[in-house]
This record gives sequence, C-alpha cells and structure tokens, in this order.
Amino acid sequence: MICIDLHSHTTASDGALGPIELCHRARERGVTALAITDHDTVAAHHFLQQQPPIEGLQLVTGIELSTSWSGSEIHIVGLNFPLDHPDLERIIAAQGEARRQRSLHIATRLAKRLPDYSQETIFQEVLAGALSRQKSTTDSFILDESQIQIGRPHFAYWLVSKGLCKNADDAFKKYLGNNKIGNLKAFWPAMSQGVAWIRALGGTAVLAHPGKYNMTRTKLTALIKDFKFAGGHALEVQGSNSPKSQIDQLAYLCEHFELKASQGSDFHNPDYPWIDIGRLPPSIPSNITPVWNDWKINT
Ligand code: AMP
Ligand code: MN
Ligand code: MN
Ligand code: MN
Repeated sequence: MICIDLHSHTTASDGALGPIELCHRARERGVTALAITDHDTVAAHHFLQQQPPIEGLQLVTGIELSTSWSGSEIHIVGLNFPLDHPDLERIIAAQGEARRQRSLHIATRLAKRLPDYSQETIFQEVLAGALSRQKSTTDSFILDESQIQIGRPHFAYWLVSKGLCKNADDAFKKYLGNNKIGNLKAFWPAMSQGVAWIRALGGTAVLAHPGKYNMTRTKLTALIKDFKFAGGHALEVQGSNSPKSQIDQLAYLCEHFELKASQGSDFHNPDYPWIDIGRLPPSIPSNITPVWNDWKINT
C-alpha cells in the first residue's frame, strides 16, 4: 500500500511537531511518501538531510508560499525541487522579510486595541512564544528568530496565553481572520510570482486547498484560470476532510484546465485529529493525473 501526503507543517512554521516527530507520526499512520511544506521555509528539510533516513518513508521537498490574487490570500505549495538551488535562499529571505513586516503591523494593530500591551511587547512575546514552542518537541530542531517563520497562529497562541481569547479559533474570529484587524494581505507577492519562483526552482507548483478560500464557483474558476496561465501545474484536489462534492468539482477543473492533481492533509497539530497526517481518501479520482506520476516514488 502506498500513501502519499504532500502537505504538512512542523515547528519551522506553525506546526506543533518537530521534523523527526512528524516523520515518525507519518510512518506510524502508513504514509510512504511525505512532503513537509512549511510556510515560506525549508528549514525542516535541511535538518532532516543531516538525520538518518526513516525506513519506508520517502521525503519529498516542499514549501507553502503565501501569495495574493485579486485581494485574496492564496497559498502555493511547491514540491519536488532541489534543496541546493541557488534561488531558494533568496525566495525564503524575501518571504521572511514580508512575514516580519506583517508581524510588526499586526502587533501595532493589536496594541491599539489592547491598551495594556505595547507593540514592542506583543511582537517580542509572540516571537519568544514561537521559539519556546520548538522546545516542547522531542526533536533537537531549534531555529533562531531569523529562521523561524512567524504567522498569525503565533499571535493566536499569544492571545490565548494572555486570557484574551478562549482558543486559537476564537483568536481568528476576533482578531486574525477575514476582515479582522490582524488579517493583513498587502505584504505578499502576486500569485503569479509565487508560481514563477517554484518553476524557477524546477519544482511543481500546486494551488493549495482551493476549497478553503470561500470563493464563488465563478471566482474560483477565474483563480484557477490565472494559476494555469501563470504556469501552475496542479490543484490540491483532496485533503483530510474534503467532501466528495468538492473533490469532484476540483477534479473537473483539473480536467478542464489540463492540470494535475495533488493531495495533502495540511497537518499542523495532533490536537486536531480530524486533520491528520496520512488521513486522505484512498486514491485520486481516476480521470486525472497525480502530480507524482512522473516522479520517482517508491511503490
Ligand atoms: P499565516 O501563515 O500567518 O497567514 O497564517 C495562516 C495559518 O493560520 C494557516 O496556515 C492555518 O494554519 C492557520 N489558521 C487559519 N485560520 C485559522 C483558524 N480559524 N483557526 C486556527 N488556525 C487558523
Ligand atoms: Mn498553517
Ligand atoms: Mn495554507
Ligand atoms: Mn498548509
């Protein structure tokens, strides 16, 4: 049996497990090929290159880039590119700087709403929280503040730790989600830029979780048309909880726009068992081509 999961996160971004812990969990759950796709970093892959391989688990390089398209934040998963590509560091540095600037702005906006905390305090405590989360794993994987990619989930943990929100979901509802003060989109490059970067690396550009953007069918079709025009390769047709109707719709769009299909759980945290590594439908719809068809995947 092969089980391929091409979307997952570690403590290098907003995941809860270290890279080795994630690999073991994947193997325990029957995953045979795994792409770690942290937000805007490949630090977990560099770390795992220095570790002994895990028997039966094939790693695929990956990254999830934040981009923007027509006022929406769009995630592009890049897969199967060489880790030593000379452009990779430059791309990650640009995204890291965008994340840093965005974090400073989020902290400024939160400080205006929360008079007990200054912008500086919020920013430093969010950073410290992200760094200390790495220590709660059993991995010896510790990044410094210039390497770790800070995102809204780190602000959510801070809001919860201060008793200002009940849980992360509440923090997104009140402060960080759509149309809230902490949701700033102006920092990301255009989606076409994200696709071009993945192509320049020689990788496969996948439109991540198309069903999560809450778009009308018309808008989603326009997005996919532009993604294809920009040189995108595949749609992520299924994740851990994809309804059959959504998979069918995305499979149809793959056929229509001559795109391949990817799949991935988007696993972040064992506390949410309904999104788990390897928890995926048994196969890709038969009318479309999987992204890994022409890769060297052990079967
Ligand atoms: P960012 O990378 O900073 O734009 O943050 C986006 C990340 O926040 C996503 O990748 C999810 O992991 C997480 N996220 C988005 N919405 C929610 C939510 N409602 N509750 C918890 N986490 C969320
Ligand atoms: Mn995330
Ligand atoms: Mn995403
Ligand atoms: Mn993701």
